[in-house]
This record gives sequence, C-alpha cells and structure tokens, in this order.
Amino acid sequence: MESHRLNRRLFVAGLAGSPVLLAQQSVVQDPPPPSKRPPIHEQPPFEEPLAFQRKDAARRVKPFLMSQVRLLPGPFQQSAEWNRAYMNWLGVDRLLHNFRLNAGLPSTAEPLGGWEAPKSELRGHFTGHYLSACALRWASAGDAEMKARGDDMVSELASCQAKLDAGGYLSAFPTELFDRLDQRKGVWAPFYTVHKIMAGLFDMYRHAGNKQALAVAGGMADWADRWTASKTEPHMQEILKSEYGGMNEVLYNLAAETGEDKWARAGDRFSKKAFFTPLAQRRDELRNLHANTHIPQVIGAARRYEISSDPRFRDVADFFWSTVAGARTYATGGSSNAEAWLTDPGHLSLEWKASTHHQECCCAYNMLKLTRHLYEWKGDARYFDYYERNLLNHRLGGIQPETGHSIYFLSMAPGAWKTLNTPDKTFWCCTGSALEEYAKLNDSIYYQDGEGIYVNLFIASELDARERGIRLRQDTRFPDEPRTALTVAETPSSAWTMRLRVPQWASHAAVKINGRQLEGMAEGGSYLSVERVWKRGDRVEMELPMRLTSEAMPDDPTVQAFLYGPIVLAGDLGAQGLTESLIRDRQGPETARAPMEVPTLKVSGKELTEWLRPDGSAPLEFRTSALGQDLAFRPLNRLWQRFAVYWNVA
Ligand SMILES: [Zn+2]
Repeated sequence: MESHRLNRRLFVAGLAGSPVLLAQQSVVQDPPPPSKRPPIHEQPPFEEPLAFQRKDAARRVKPFLMSQVRLLPGPFQQSAEWNRAYMNWLGVDRLLHNFRLNAGLPSTAEPLGGWEAPKSELRGHFTGHYLSACALRWASAGDAEMKARGDDMVSELASCQAKLDAGGYLSAFPTELFDRLDQRKGVWAPFYTVHKIMAGLFDMYRHAGNKQALAVAGGMADWADRWTASKTEPHMQEILKSEYGGMNEVLYNLAAETGEDKWARAGDRFSKKAFFTPLAQRRDELRNLHANTHIPQVIGAARRYEISSDPRFRDVADFFWSTVAGARTYATGGSSNAEAWLTDPGHLSLEWKASTHHQECCCAYNMLKLTRHLYEWKGDARYFDYYERNLLNHRLGGIQPETGHSIYFLSMAPGAWKTLNTPDKTFWCCTGSALEEYAKLNDSIYYQDGEGIYVNLFIASELDARERGIRLRQDTRFPDEPRTALTVAETPSSAWTMRLRVPQWASHAAVKINGRQLEGMAEGGSYLSVERVWKRGDRVEMELPMRLTSEAMPDDPTVQAFLYGPIVLAGDLGAQGLTESLIRDRQGPETARAPMEVPTLKVSGKELTEWLRPDGSAPLEFRTSALGQDLAFRPLNRLWQRFAVYWNVA
C-alpha cells in the first residue's frame, strides 16, 4: 500500500455502543500500480550470479490454513462436488500405470490417453495435479477418501523412486528425455512434468501431513540439484527456453520448509534472466512470449522474494502482475491468446482479433496464485477486484455441471462456445489446473493480520480462526443476491477488527450491525474496518448493490463487454451448429467450422438500462430487443452454448 494515493477519514458512527469505523479510502480505479520507487537497478539486475541467503520478507496479511475454511452450499461448493465426482471416477491404478512401467514394476491398468498416453512426453503431469487435488480435498473439505488415495499414490511413487534407484529421479518417463533437453534436441517439457509431480508431493506433505511425500520430493530435489549444477550457466539459460513450470517455486518451497538452502540454490538455476531482467526494470517485453510458460516462473520469483527479501524478485512479480492484470486482461479476468501474448500492452482489441483461442485456463489459475502472493505483501483490497472478476467469470463457469469436465480456452470470439476434455483421453494442462482449482475454492475468502480478520470474497462459508478464538459464518447467495451476512459464532472478549472488502463495482454498499445501519462507508476498492468488542451472535449484513456497466477495449471504444456488478453478461446465441465433435476434446471453439454472423449492437449513445432490461424470471438474467429480435444476456459462468461477450457497438 506504500505508494497509492491514500486518504484516510475517520468516521465515528453516532450509535450508542456503536463500532468505531476506520474507513480506508483509496480512490484509484485501475489495478494497483507497481510501487513507484526510483529505478534502483541501473545495471542489469540479474547480471551477476545469484547468491541465495535466507531472510524472510515481511507480509502485511496472512492466509488461513485451507482446513480452517469450509464452503457452505452454493455455486462454489457445487463446483467442488462436480470436480470431486470426476476425481472419484479416475482410478489410482491408471494414474500410476506409466510410473510403474517406467520403474520396471508390473502394471495391468488400462492406460490413459491424450497427454497421459504411454508415449506422450508429458505423461505423469496429471498424476502430479491429482496428488495436489487429493491433498486439497482433504484440507478444504475433510475428504478422507481422497486423502487415502493420495497417501496410496505417495507410497506407490516412493516404490517407483526406490526401484529406479537413480539419485532420487522419479517420473513416468526415462531420463533420456532430459538428455535430449540437455542436448537441445526436440523434447516437450520434462521439467514441466517433474514440477507437477514435485508440487503434488509437496502438497501432500503441506496440506495432508504426509512425511513420505516430503522425502520423495526431497529426493527429486536432490536429483534436480545435481542435474542443474552439472551445467554451465549459459547452457542452463539455454535449457530454460523449454517450458519448466514452477521448478523454481517448488524448490524454494522445499527449501523454506526444511531449511535446506541447497534447494533454494537449485531453484535459482531456474531463473530465466532474459525474462526477469526487463520485468525488474519495469518494461513489458511480453509480446510473443508463451503465457503459461512464464506466469509460473513469476510465481517462483515472488516466492524467492518472500524467503530472501531480494527486491529484484519482488520487482519482477510486482511489475509483471501490474502489466498483465492492467493491460493484458479481458473483462472476464483472463489473459493470453493462442497461449501467448501477441501484441504490445494495451492493444487488447488487436490481440482479441488475432485468433479465437483466448484465455488459457492455466493462465487464470496461475494469475490467481500470483495475486495471492502480492496481496499478502500489501494487503490492498484492489487485488481482490481483479481476483473476484477472474474467479466469478473465468473459473466458476469453467467446469461442466455434474461431469466435472473442464475447459482449456475461454474464447472471447463472437459466437464462441466452451469446449471440454474427454474423461480419459485428453488430460490437458488445463484439466490438471482445474482439478486443483475446484478442490480449493475455499482459498482466500478470509485473511488475517495482527488486528483481526479480512473478508475478501462473498462466498457461503465458515471460518474457524481457532488460534484467535474467532469463528465466523458467512451466509450468502451472492452473486444471485447482492448481499452477504456474517455471524460471529465465537469471539474472544477483547476487541478485534473485521475488515469488509468494498468492491470497486459496489458504489452504494451499506453495512448493518445487528440491524443498525452504519453511517460511514469506505470507498470501492478498499476495506471498511469495524473494530469493536464482538459478542457471540453479532450479525453483520452487507448490501452490495450491482448495476449495469460497459467495459470497452482499451484500444477500441467500439468493442464493448457488459457487466452487472462483477458478473460478465454474455449474449446467449443458442446451440446452432454445435455438435459433440465440436465441443469434446477440442482445446477451443473452431468457429470457422460453425460460422455465425454476430450483428453489431446499435445502442451507441443509449443508457444501458434503456436497452438491457432485467428478465425478471431469474437473478442476473437480462433481455434486449436491440438487435431486432429478443436476445437473452446471462452470466457467462452459466452459459454452455454459443455466446458473445464482446460486441461491436455502433
Ligand atoms: Zn493449460
């Protein structure tokens, strides 16, 4: 929060026994800018070899453990259940098949297909995601069956590692793929896959207490340490041109957890200097880079800053986030096109027109993850304006009801549709990210600092902040209803502060405590802070009125999307021309195979409320006759047929 234009006003509500309100106001409409320090890096910041020293950076706010927050019935819990159904359908034996064969152990399981097929160079990546999801299911929902599956898999993977007997190496493919990587011969992305397996094992340790998982991951870290230490730095920088996921992040996580600095030094070998240098100097040179190759590297940089306090890594993460969230993100919260950034920053309409494969889901997943890091450092509510947009529009609607199958791209092309994986013959990167995403939807609803609790997201849930003697229950049907209510179920006798996030879109938010309206209100994009001696049963009700808004492309005011509060509304264009083969096992909509003419919206100069009216039959549903025929606009996150989010407006 150090450099934002920040006004503070003190409101003292004139109610008997009333809470004291400290409304922190920050009046900037854009995403949080990078800190405006003078350019401290006159020399290229990563020219010298890196020298890791542990020194933890201060964090303004801290998350709760995943196990302290439970979802209550609502759209988020429902998505979690659909995901769980898909996890349950997949059998452990099939996920371990290639690992066993690679280790010379017998397996009679039916092989999986797609990116997990026995000859795929990415085989094993999804098994890593699955391990993470098992750990997250246990932590987020107390799912003992999924924990048991995860424990079984860890034990089997430990046997594979022991049988391989190759200095800790563990994978579903042989080290020959790493030989090819070393020789810069064609190979897909072996470190990407190894990262997923290591992250899955680390999650089984971190979220599910499995010590064997930590030992297996440590063995893999030792192997990666030796492999990378045997290369010269220039050669290693060449190797880093191949996608390697978050190898740096998982090695830093292991180092932080165990105190083994050697793994942090191994993590440093995964610092791609040609990518980090311009970011640390606050230059956006992302054009033509593959998006999801690079976002995880920045998450690793954020983690490096947290465990070393090295400001170069903070600047990398800070600037990257600002330019992607601020200048390369669609109204839905996603970024990328055809997996890359195809233009200079701020040219989103050119990017939009360049292909139909916008917004890879892994990018959305990883940007949420990066946002959590930056938010912890700064405690700025505006990070959650971005987070909420992404979560509600891109992630909530990215999982198919009942089946738990999920999407790859969320296309913004007019007449686009969502495309889905097959149950056992696809296994894209995004299928793996989805498995984790929907196993952790309780994440980030609440945070804490020394003074109390932050309420960031309006999701039906319970918080058990047992270390401070506080329990909260949040009842809400948000976003179907524009309000939420928090009940204090347990509280210590001393005062503490509840900080309620006031979103930027909520221009007339209002709060009642035990039925009495507070006079003060924080501005959008900040927190309303209520400090008082709370009593069991105290009830905080927050009204979050939504209104229709339009959001134009930054470089073309005639291309617009429409929102109601934080919810992106899409024109529902029906299922015309859609066949199962156009939907299933396709990464994105191939609109040329089912062309659709989407007309221009002739509403220029009209108020939104003149031409877009509430449907009345269901929440968040609207209708218009502006196209000469009746057309429904509904939340993109509910749509499973053809839609248009961005419209040409004349
Ligand atoms: Zn992906």
